[in-house]
Amino acid sequence: MFLDIKRRAIQARRFLLDCFFPLSCAGCGQEGDWLCLPCAQSLEYLAVEPVCWQCGKEVRPGYSCPACAKATNIDGLLAPFSYHNQVVSNLLKIYKYQFCHELGLELANLLSGWLVKGVKDNKLSNITFDLVVPVPLHASRLRWRGYNQSEILAKAVTEVFQVPLEVDLLKRNRRTRPQAKLANELRLANVSGCFTVKKDLGLDNKLIILVDDVATTMATLTSAAKTLKQAGAGQIWAITLLKA
Ligand SMILES: [Zn+2]
Ligand SMILES: [Zn+2]
Repeated sequence: MFLDIKRRAIQARRFLLDCFFPLSCAGCGQEGDWLCLPCAQSLEYLAVEPVCWQCGKEVRPGYSCPACAKATNIDGLLAPFSYHNQVVSNLLKIYKYQFCHELGLELANLLSGWLVKGVKDNKLSNITFDLVVPVPLHASRLRWRGYNQSEILAKAVTEVFQVPLEVDLLKRNRRTRPQAKLANELRLANVSGCFTVKKDLGLDNKLIILVDDVATTMATLTSAAKTLKQAGAGQIWAITLLKA
């Protein structure tokens, strides 16, 4: 009974916010679109640099250096935008916290456009990925938001690389505190062991792309990657919209 009331309250809140959040550009505030054409055209995209995302050591573009790959279980990281990109950060916040579901597609298009132009056709065309997996939300979080923000991004990645999407492979076992509210040194402990692999897909040596919206300390991605590797995965690459 209580759960039912709670669910209805969540649905009502989502409906209200979805309908009334004003449609205006996250860059300049002009009404009518989430991102106007001039702001979209002046977005600053990151290049895929031949340096390790973690320590700055020289590596093949996109790859982690061997030491950082070992420490984090992440073998490569790709992201089109810096965490400090205010326009994209604003868009993501509206998408995640104002229940603007349709904005997900805009963000997914920004990601896939960058992947097609900057990555697939040039620097990473020799890598073959096997599977795309979005970082899951805990069930209660998913009910609250109504969608997993990483899933629509993962779909875009799937289309670019033409590999299967597995939304149910990973499960988040317990609720974790929001990473943004914790000091860096507490973030890994917060998410450590919070994922399990739900089904036996025969991951042996598969090259998996994990997709999340933001990579800052990498604690969540590291925890998810570790779980996938323990289940037999070969390499794990992370693709996120924003990175630190
Ligand atoms: Zn604008
Ligand atoms: Zn490194």
